[in-house]
Amino acid sequence: MALMTGAPVDGWPEFTARTRLLVVAPHPDDETLATGLLLQQVLAAGGEVRILLLTAGGNNPWPQRVLERRWRIGAEDRRRWARRRAAELQQALATLGIAPNALQTLDWPDLGVTELLLRDTGLAVDAVRDAIDRFSPDLLAVPSLHDRHPDHSAAHVLVRLALVGHAAPPELLAYLVHGHAADRRSRPISPTPAQLAGKRAALQAHRSQLALSGRRLRRLAEREETFLEPDDPSPSVPTALPWRPPRWLGPWLRLDVVSPAATQRWTWRRAPLRRGADGALHMPLPAAGRAQPCFVRLWLDLRTPWIFDHWGWCRMDVAEPASFPGVAPQDRPG
Ligand SMILES: [Zn+2]
Repeated sequence: MALMTGAPVDGWPEFTARTRLLVVAPHPDDETLATGLLLQQVLAAGGEVRILLLTAGGNNPWPQRVLERRWRIGAEDRRRWARRRAAELQQALATLGIAPNALQTLDWPDLGVTELLLRDTGLAVDAVRDAIDRFSPDLLAVPSLHDRHPDHSAAHVLVRLALVGHAAPPELLAYLVHGHAADRRSRPISPTPAQLAGKRAALQAHRSQLALSGRRLRRLAEREETFLEPDDPSPSVPTALPWRPPRWLGPWLRLDVVSPAATQRWTWRRAPLRRGADGALHMPLPAAGRAQPCFVRLWLDLRTPWIFDHWGWCRMDVAEPASFPGVAPQDRPG
């Protein structure tokens, strides 16, 4: 009767008093939307939970304009908004039964996690590794690499890099807030009615977010709470990128590669890409990319109000970088 007890089912480890769950949340409200039930279940079993909040969520101009009735949003306004969201988060955590000291905040720039990852890789990875080492979780809930919000996908890359060489890495549970899981295998949580009510009540605490996006957020919160297996690189075509951007976008396309060895950023012209006989773009990884895991990001260097990723990241580990069948070296990506 898993449905009645809220016990984990379908491949879940049994939660006990020894379970230690760390949730990496890019923004206040992700903890509730993505893991509101999971957190309650671990606590119900007597386990311990921690939330690692990456940003204070201060860069949120449209709800702020509406709720504060002001058009111009400056730095001080963003700090005030962040304080408001911090108070909402504390209330949400209390509703879920989580003590205030279970929250650790890194205070990174909202909508700036990708830039931080690419510019200060070592610093950012160290901060995440430090949080993991201090709590020693056996379960680690992280945003999916395929989440369309750039702070979320970058958080995934940071966690994966932070776990490189870890003696006893925790089990990773990937969650998706923005976007679709496609055909990836997932494990749903079976909640009790009380846990469902607790998640709804926790979402109500995030009033600043409900003001403009209440319907969307309630729909997200009502979805089955489910966790994906962190994806591994495609074994069949290890050097092929999963994207085929139109050629005319070339001047604005950028390619970034992040691995434990290095972070590298290219314009499309200079990117180490070859068009293969199959029409796909192949990346004979440069030396720095051979360290694993290796994450590749394709993006458009255009200023738009649209914050979500079109292509985003993929994982691409190449064990043997010497041979790339079907790749014509003279073809530049167009
Ligand atoms: Zn978020």
